[in-house]
Amino acid sequence: MLRENQSECYRCGTCCRKGGPALHGPDLELIRSGRIPRKDLITIRRGELVFNPVADGVQPVAVELVKLRGVGSEWSCCYYDTLSRGCMIYDHRPQACESLKCWRPKESLALVEQDCLTRLDIMDSDDPLRVFVKEHEQLCTCPDLGAVPAGLERELEKTLSDLQRLVDNDLLFRQRILDKFDLDLAEELFYFGRPIFQILAGLGVQAVNHPGGVRLKVA
Ligand code: SF4
Ligand code: SF4
Repeated sequence: MLRENQSECYRCGTCCRKGGPALHGPDLELIRSGRIPRKDLITIRRGELVFNPVADGVQPVAVELVKLRGVGSEWSCCYYDTLSRGCMIYDHRPQACESLKCWRPKESLALVEQDCLTRLDIMDSDDPLRVFVKEHEQLCTCPDLGAVPAGLERELEKTLSDLQRLVDNDLLFRQRILDKFDLDLAEELFYFGRPIFQILAGLGVQAVNHPGGVRLKVA
């Protein structure tokens, strides 16, 4: 939390609890060296809604982001130790954390959506999943989430049916690749990000379990 006349970090942990950082070019070495393992990464696909500190609001992200994952269903950074209120990887924390000074945000704001690492930057050149990451982006592109609320208001049935088709394709695609490569949840979240039905939940579109998959409805 920002205090009057602040000139240093008070280790309040607010920034870490808001979520892990997006990774940038210089962070690639942290991944290559194994200091930050792949299992601790999550992909935010282009178009997902995220808080943009420059715009000071939630909006579709213009570029793909790979972030440090949260804990359970929370976004709080997986490397934040609540007991010591400190960073477990402080000496090799990512660039965005190193540059973050909440009392003087200019440097960290300049990093927003700039030189961001993507999945393809991180994956080995011979990773057999590269082709499927690209295919998934083409077949199951993140919808225009900024337009979804107006679509639901104006044409509820058509909008829900379009989203349902996308959600079904996304789930079928994932199942096919998960089975083929025996991927666990952490690997799925890195390679393909969150399923589209989970992303839609933030817009009030609920996914209800159904024998044939999930069915969308407006909450
Ligand atoms: S930089 Fe983060 S941990 Fe430090 S005072 Fe600001 S919000 Fe708190
Ligand atoms: S990597 Fe460390 S400094 Fe960065 S958000 Fe996580 S806990 Fe905080």
